[in-house]
Amino acid sequence: MKLIGTLLLVTCSLLSSAAAYAENDVRVEYAKPEGAVETAISKELKTSNTIGSVTTFIDGYFKLPESLVFFIGGEEGPLYDVAENRILIPYSFVTEIKDRFKQANYKETGVTAEEATKDALMHTLFHEFAHAAIAMYELPVLGKEEDAADALATILLIEFFDNGQEIALSAADLFDLESDDRDTLGDEDFWDEHSLDDQRYFSTLCHVYGSDPEQYAAILEDGALSEERAELCIEEYEYTVQSWFKVLEPYIQDNKTD
Ligand SMILES: [Zn+2]
Repeated sequence: MKLIGTLLLVTCSLLSSAAAYAENDVRVEYAKPEGAVETAISKELKTSNTIGSVTTFIDGYFKLPESLVFFIGGEEGPLYDVAENRILIPYSFVTEIKDRFKQANYKETGVTAEEATKDALMHTLFHEFAHAAIAMYELPVLGKEEDAADALATILLIEFFDNGQEIALSAADLFDLESDDRDTLGDEDFWDEHSLDDQRYFSTLCHVYGSDPEQYAAILEDGALSEERAELCIEEYEYTVQSWFKVLEPYIQDNKTD
C-alpha cells in the first residue's frame, strides 16, 4: 500500500510538473499602433507568419518554466526584459530595418527588402529568446552573452527552418549595413556589450559556411572569409551547436529528444 502510494505520488508529481510546463506558453501581444506607418507594420506583422513561426517553434520545442511574452510595438527594444520575462520589439525597429534594406537596394541580391526584413526580424527574435533562455534556465555563459545569443539565433534558424542559412545571411547583411554607420570607431564601440557590427557579420557568415561548406562555398570564393578562417568555421559551428544543445537539453520537450 505504502509503495503504491509512493508510486502514485511520484506519478502525480511528474504529471503535475509536466502540466506546469504545459500551462506556460509563448504569447504575442501587440501595442496599439500610432500613425499610418505603425498601423501598416502592425498589420503586416499580424498577417505574415514571421513572428508566429518563431513563437510556435519555441512553444513546441522548449519547456518553459514560465510564460514568455513577445511584446511588439512598445517604445523600447529590441531587448529581453528579465523582470517581466518579456521580449520587446518596437515597430520602429522593423521600419528601420526595412528602410535600410531598401536604401541599400537589397533586392538586387535576389531577396526583396520585405523578405530580408522578415529574415532579420526572425534572427532578432531568436537572439532575444537566447537572452530569455539564459535567464529562465540559469544557463552558464562563458564569454560574451551577446555573441552567444547571435550564435543560438543562427543555429536555431539553420537546424530547424527551411532556408535557415538564407535567413541568417539576410541577418548578417543587416549587420554589414549597420557597420556602414560609422566611419571611425570610438571607445564606445569597443566597450559596447555587443561585438562590432562587422564582427557580428563575419561570425554569422562563418556559422553559415561552417554548417554546410559545400553549399556555401561561394562565401569562400568571394573572399568574404579567408581559407584559414573558413576551415576553422566548420569545427566552430559544430562545437557551438554541441555546446548550446548540451546546456539546453534538459529544457527541450521530451518528445523532441531522441
Ligand atoms: Zn542581445
